[in-house]
Amino acid sequence: MRIDILTTFPEMFAGVFGSSILKRACDKGIIEYRLHNIRDYSASKHKNTDDYPFGGGAGMVMMPQPVFDCMDCVVGDRDVHCIYMSPRGRVLTQAVARELAKKEALLILCGHYEGIDERIMSRMNDEISIGDYVLTGGELPAMVLVDCVSRMIDGVLGCPDSAEYESFSDGLLEYPQYTRPAQIRGMNVPEVLLNGNHALINKWRREQSLKTTLERRPELLKKAELSPSDKLYIESLKRGE
Ligand code: SAM
Repeated sequence: MRIDILTTFPEMFAGVFGSSILKRACDKGIIEYRLHNIRDYSASKHKNTDDYPFGGGAGMVMMPQPVFDCMDCVVGDRDVHCIYMSPRGRVLTQAVARELAKKEALLILCGHYEGIDERIMSRMNDEISIGDYVLTGGELPAMVLVDCVSRMIDGVLGCPDSAEYESFSDGLLEYPQYTRPAQIRGMNVPEVLLNGNHALINKWRREQSLKTTLERRPELLKKAELSPSDKLYIESLKRGE
């Protein structure tokens, strides 16, 4: 997958794209990230990318000209799914990331200041928020989106099962994880994880997922796919058993 990012702060991405799983995905040629500085496309003498809002009001607005010109150059005649990162957008979830991971190419526009000139939305296919709060710019949200989508692409994670068993993948929060040693500072790993009985381990993990979800995010249980034994277990938890 090719991911083009349009930003006025391309230097912010170096650490995230240059480390860990995203770097490996890039090195393996599974994903290609390209950063474009919107400022390079500004036709103004001082390479401005923002201007005062028509009608007055606080702050500045990103100008359409540099963004349109940058998009013309980057997209050309390719089929690209263009996303504007915005608190007004649909909220990023594991399901949204899974949907985007199927696209051939993504373009992500990072806003700044008070946001973008609304006419730029005529070139966008999607508007995505990373949550109900406001950040200074779209760069951090873009990094969150790229990380989340990249994990869903075949070959990116060392173990292909990892994404499948993570929180939200089956609509539930993940069960607790343990590693060696089996005992530390008087705390033991649950016995069931040490006995090698995978049927019992899977049953314990499923119950832990259900218990954690009921305690922390009960609203998720309404949408999750639950078996009859899941439902019985939840009822027993609610009765305090
Ligand atoms: N005035 C805008 C509003 O109230 O919706 C907020 C602008 S914000 C200061 C600047 C930029 O940060 C936005 O254009 C957007 O690209 C990005 N941004 C801020 N919060 C975000 C969020 N929760 N999700 C996605 N992008 C966000």
